[in-house]
Amino acid sequence: MLSVEFPEDARVAVLTAQPLGRPFDYRAPEGGCSTGDFVEVPLGPRKVLGVVWGAGAGDVAAGKLRAVIRVLDAAPMREEMRAFLERAADYTLTPLPAMLRLATRAPGLGDPPSMRRLYRRGQGAPDRMTPARARVIELLEEYGGLAFTLGELAEQAGVSSSVVKGLIPSGAVLEEDAPRDRPYPHLDPALPGVPLAEDQAQAAARLRAGVAGGSYGTTLLKGVTGSGKTEVYLEAVAECLSHGRQALVLLPEIALTAEFLTRVERRFGARPAEWHSGVTMAERRRVWRMVGRGGAQLVVGARSALFLPFRDLGLIVVDEEHDSSYKQEEGVLYNARDMAVLRASLAGAQVVLASATPSLESWANAEAGKYARIDLTSRFGDAKLPEMRAIDMRTQDLPPSRWISPTLATAVEARMAAGQQSLLFLNRRGYAPVTVCRACGHQIGCDHCDARMVEHRFLKRLVCHQCGETKPIPATCPSCQAEGKLAPVGPGVERLAEESAERFPDARVAVLSSDLFTTARALKAQIKAIAAGEADIIIGTQLVAKGHNFPLLTLVGVIDADLGLQGSDLRAAERTFQLMRQVAGRAGRGADKGLALLQTFQPEHPVIRAILTGEEESFWQAEAAERRAAGVPPYGRMAGIVISAPEAKPAFDLGTWLARNDAPLRRIGAQLFGPAPAPIARVRGRHRVRLLIKADKGAPLQAAISDWLAPVKLPAQVRLAVDIDPQSFL
Ligand code: ADP
Ligand code: ZN
Repeated sequence: MLSVEFPEDARVAVLTAQPLGRPFDYRAPEGGCSTGDFVEVPLGPRKVLGVVWGAGAGDVAAGKLRAVIRVLDAAPMREEMRAFLERAADYTLTPLPAMLRLATRAPGLGDPPSMRRLYRRGQGAPDRMTPARARVIELLEEYGGLAFTLGELAEQAGVSSSVVKGLIPSGAVLEEDAPRDRPYPHLDPALPGVPLAEDQAQAAARLRAGVAGGSYGTTLLKGVTGSGKTEVYLEAVAECLSHGRQALVLLPEIALTAEFLTRVERRFGARPAEWHSGVTMAERRRVWRMVGRGGAQLVVGARSALFLPFRDLGLIVVDEEHDSSYKQEEGVLYNARDMAVLRASLAGAQVVLASATPSLESWANAEAGKYARIDLTSRFGDAKLPEMRAIDMRTQDLPPSRWISPTLATAVEARMAAGQQSLLFLNRRGYAPVTVCRACGHQIGCDHCDARMVEHRFLKRLVCHQCGETKPIPATCPSCQAEGKLAPVGPGVERLAEESAERFPDARVAVLSSDLFTTARALKAQIKAIAAGEADIIIGTQLVAKGHNFPLLTLVGVIDADLGLQGSDLRAAERTFQLMRQVAGRAGRGADKGLALLQTFQPEHPVIRAILTGEEESFWQAEAAERRAAGVPPYGRMAGIVISAPEAKPAFDLGTWLARNDAPLRRIGAQLFGPAPAPIARVRGRHRVRLLIKADKGAPLQAAISDWLAPVKLPAQVRLAVDIDPQSFL
């Protein structure tokens, strides 16, 4: 028998995911329990999941102490994971229970490991098709080969379970008794990879050596688009697996996973575990449990995969590490890139941050020697980096409400004549960003937010990009009641598609924008069709900037290169530089050389110049110098506070009180700005007030903020969120 740390009836502290703030004392159950055990405990009238966090604190009277109900059949939470959750909670100023919730996001963790029925797509066709049956089949196909439980399948398809059962006799749906939590197929790290180019081989050798060392370290793998970074970091994965340790690869976009999974399968002979919002609940549970037991060697996933209970994590790859989607902007506010480094440092694992255009944070860490840095400076094989040129829009003749300049149009026509593809890039979803009344000048706004509504002609509605509210396009102006005077102002991708169809009547035009696809499968199908050459002109938002390979694409036209430079955002220059270089990098990945044309009204702007010349190091140096002088990240620290309430006054009152009582911040030399209305002062009917804290790099910011906020008692309806290292200032 295994010895237990706490015998029956001993006092133990149990952390639950309930918002209680801290662990509570319980009595150990029959058979005892140990630190890290997943347990079920009574909480009021309910039974909830918890983790034994250590010995009890003794602050509950012995007579009131309730007993742990049972220890669950799951691998205990390792000490390293507990330390990670505590450190992440301290860093992000998040209550520990909220961190535990991130770490237990899989359903049925407490269920026994019995057999259960699973349902997946079979080869057969149903004898008779009904709309309900079609929905079930479509859903199963959308999720690839993944299996569902009956309840989840019926619910997601919006049908009764008898509809699912009715599809079994024909073989259209397979019903099988699956032992819960089968291990994932074995990935073989000894299989040969593709032969690497010289610089790739050197990079791979360095990453392999780091992984073989078995301790913590972070490497920035900076390689131009198309340099073959993926093949290089797959070698690090191979090294990690060959030591019997687990690896995690984070991707910024679910749409990219399909292609990546295929590459993993080619390299290691089987598919890895997948973890993101497009994975079924049944599969999530399997991933969670197998990761904890060592039945999954490699996980490919979204940022939340960082909170999986790895048994022996040896490597974390953060691909496209500069991508802003790694920052979680709702609920627990954390940056997955930074948390990956924290987790790896506790696990004795290596981190590889891969990007063609690293974040200034990572660049600075490499400069400071905290991260190793490896550069891949040329594209793999014969592919050449695209040529970049500006189109000076001040010299172009364009009628109103047209955005494709004559120079760009000529270039597109030349590509069409050569049987090649062009991408027109515009980072704006919808038809037009503003709808204005030509009689009174009124702009149609959202009823719940201080934001203008965006016309989506495809949906035939106006949409608020803040809260998602939609309404039909009105026939009369809501302000002056004039009829037929509402007009779209400015371009979105849908309007650009319309212009392209007029301008290039023979072209096949495809639009890639996240809101035009109702399912991930439809989006994947469109991407595949484009890659196969089924479009001449691709019109896309930033969705296309992220890593898709379109071999026939040789021209990228950026409709408005100035768009991102307009805001006063601290990272406006950095973001524009990254986005423009990434988008341009879509061109010329096949045999033919690419060209990127940037439409701009300010070709001599330093950021536009740096994008065109590709003199990256001097761009980063200049950007770093400016941020250092201003004392802002990564050379200083920041935290944002957002207070929101249904009425403006209580939010402002609290903000004002905080500003008057900022002694804990002043003690560490921090500066406080605000309160001020947030740039978007109302979202979903809640008024928003912002404060911003700036401190020196070494200042103990979190501790000071904790002291400062400790006396705050939030009035009913008022919410306060702390954002350490904010990325968004809206
Ligand atoms: P990056 O992620 O740096 O943009 P990828 O890893 O996607 O680049 O590689 C770009 C293209 O070159 C891909 O189509 C990839 O399959 C191919 N490639 C890269 N390295 C090799 C190699 N050593 N052998 C064969 N093909 C390679
Ligand atoms: Zn809104």
